[in-house]
Amino acid sequence: MIEAQGLHKRFGATPVLKNVSLTLRQGEVVAVIGPSGSGKSTFLRCLNHLETIDSGRIAIEGEVLAQTDAQGRCHYASEREVRRICRKMGMVFQHFNLFPHLTVLENVIEAPLRVKGLASADITPKAEALLAKVGLLDKRHNYPARLSGGQKQRVAIARALAMEPDIMLFDEPTSALDPELTGEVLRTMRQLADEHMTMLVVTHEMGFAREVASSVVFMDAGELIEAQPAQAFFANPQHARTRAFLNHML
Ligand code: ATP
Ligand code: MG
Repeated sequence: MIEAQGLHKRFGATPVLKNVSLTLRQGEVVAVIGPSGSGKSTFLRCLNHLETIDSGRIAIEGEVLAQTDAQGRCHYASEREVRRICRKMGMVFQHFNLFPHLTVLENVIEAPLRVKGLASADITPKAEALLAKVGLLDKRHNYPARLSGGQKQRVAIARALAMEPDIMLFDEPTSALDPELTGEVLRTMRQLADEHMTMLVVTHEMGFAREVASSVVFMDAGELIEAQPAQAFFANPQHARTRAFLNHML
């Protein structure tokens, strides 16, 4: 579960998140949509501490990552605690960020080896099972350069899952892919959703949002404008800005 309350964030003088609140419950899939520059990536990056918030409160699985005191000062958990809490979340980026000098299998076992201190022999069967799950077991000894974009992204998903996260964050996982490759990645994500993985997904794929997400939130200019169950969101958007965006997208 993610609880984000009243998040504020600025880059220099520019406010990028303005009072953003969202609760993501166990097993929910929430899609975040909105125009370019609306703060979607920044929001995700604040949740797993790739960026810091200026004020607000973030709790992950009931543990407080950051909160603001009565004087308006924002306090983060200790560095060690922050690392431990953020390990509950796996993240998949638009540009896969695989290690080019490691094979597919080595990419998947890298974090468990390094962070959890597990032995390669202990983690390999699990990693191979994850690669089988994303349909890439036969590519385990290949280097990323020899994979298609869709395959790279599925490796990135397997790699995030190898850390056994409670929650998966996706930031436009299909935006860098040719249209014919997005389907295989969306199918993998849909399978995760069917297995009740808790997921927060920034996406431009309205079909995915409509069919897979339990709810959809719309961000614009740093504000969370509207959050509704997916069906209601598309059938009956409440805000003019949401309607304008959907008219443009659909
Ligand atoms: P897109 O759909 O294009 O990915 P987004 O909704 O993810 O957009 P963000 O990347 O969160 O938007 O950016 C929100 C705003 O913050 C933008 O105005 C962007 O220029 C600004 N911004 C993002 N990262 C930084 C940074 N590191 N330093 C300064 N400004 C930044
Ligand atoms: Mg973005």
